Amino acid sequence: METRIFENKAEDLKKAAELIRKGETVIFPTETVYGLGANALDADAVKKIFVAKGRPSDNPLIVHIADFALAEKFVREIPDSAKIVAEKFWPGPLTMIFKKKPCIPNEVSARLDTVGIRIPSDKTAREFLRECGVPVAAPSANISGRPSPTAFSHAVEDMEGKVSGIIKGEDSAVGVESTVLDMTSDIPTILRPGGISAEQLREVLGEVLVSSELKEDGIPKAPGMKYKHYSPKGQTYILKGSAESAARFIEKRSKINSVAALIFDELAEYMPKSAKLISLGSKNRPEDAAHRLFDALRECDGLGVKEIYAPEIPETGLWRAVRNRLYKAAAARIIEAESAKTVLFICTGNTCRSPIAEGIFNISRKNAVAMSAGLFASGGKAEPNAIAAAAEYGADLKNHKSTQLTYEMLENSDIILTMTESHKLSLPAELNVQTITEFVGEAGEVSDPYGGDIEVYRSCAAKIKKLIERM
Ligand code: AMP
Ligand code: MG
Repeated sequence: METRIFENKAEDLKKAAELIRKGETVIFPTETVYGLGANALDADAVKKIFVAKGRPSDNPLIVHIADFALAEKFVREIPDSAKIVAEKFWPGPLTMIFKKKPCIPNEVSARLDTVGIRIPSDKTAREFLRECGVPVAAPSANISGRPSPTAFSHAVEDMEGKVSGIIKGEDSAVGVESTVLDMTSDIPTILRPGGISAEQLREVLGEVLVSSELKEDGIPKAPGMKYKHYSPKGQTYILKGSAESAARFIEKRSKINSVAALIFDELAEYMPKSAKLISLGSKNRPEDAAHRLFDALRECDGLGVKEIYAPEIPETGLWRAVRNRLYKAAAARIIEAESAKTVLFICTGNTCRSPIAEGIFNISRKNAVAMSAGLFASGGKAEPNAIAAAAEYGADLKNHKSTQLTYEMLENSDIILTMTESHKLSLPAELNVQTITEFVGEAGEVSDPYGGDIEVYRSCAAKIKKLIERM
């Protein structure tokens, strides 16, 4: 579809609003992130949002309005406490969950009996919403799973050709999504940390709970929290430890793999030149980290790096939102710089066995980082059946490119594991190389599935998975 670009001026905002009233989708800037909007009262229009993003339909949308007075049209009851919160934090980066009225279609609320309402503070957003004259349902305007867009260019990158219009605004001032505050529970509960902190809300409300769903393994109450989120293409890790130990670890990795590190400016001097360094601003300024975070994650994609290291983030104030997004991006992979092991899986062509091992290992949340290489690698993609078999365990090999083993890789890895005895025998005897079976104290080897059907690859992946569990 043709995507019209609208400038940030009155007549263009009017035209964009007209598209919304006609049941089309328009991306608009807000202070949190760019939103992908459609008329919240029009179920067919709302469905277009899910299609454009590739978003699961059980993940509800936030309804954006220009003025608090409109809220009562869409929600059953606004408790007094919510009025106080609205007075203090609206317009702004806060979404409140209320019981919904029937005019809000199920497509918006994902069949919940509640709806999230937000009044953005961004000037363009409010002008646009006023012109629309209808409430606008909008999630972040990224392809589902990718980092949220905080710049016009991000929205174009993900959504050109998939929406009817994009309004060209400023970069998002806050840079992380709104705080989602459930006002339907006995004690107001934060379902998603965001631009307004728990501490700020407690000043007005007294008691505020922070939902335990935010813990990595919990069952989410805010449906969106359960999905893989904000993920750049490289493997992302939270790297804990002192600046010196983090720098040593990153240097070691960047000798043998393409690496980016998200860092605080104060730590730049410790970091190796070999890694791509991306600033999160000062370690004393959470607002800078929030503002830069999603752009930094997208920059990692642009650089095409395979490993991304992010620092540990405090659990207070606005940091909590930054921490939440980074933990999601890292799929909760947390490693200790001082003690984390580096693992090198080796097979023949690096298109089947060793990429499967790398992929499965790297989602197993061990205190270790794995890569893979081949004795005779051609630079091609992983075998389609290897990609399919690994995907059944949640490992994504779609972006894998087979890589030739180098002496440097052998020298800079703590644990070197081959699939067969003959792989091992072809490597220098003075290196501590083991077969993966030998490493876990088993007999046999992982034989080559190449040329086999999907069942052959499945049993190969199953065998590798079992061996990795025992590591
Ligand atoms: P997005 O705008 O892409 O960040 O998505 C909106 C998020 O707000 C969803 O993923 C949910 O986590 C949350 N949300 C929206 N409506 C509700 C609701 N009725 N109940 C709970 N959480 C909600
Ligand atoms: Mg989103």
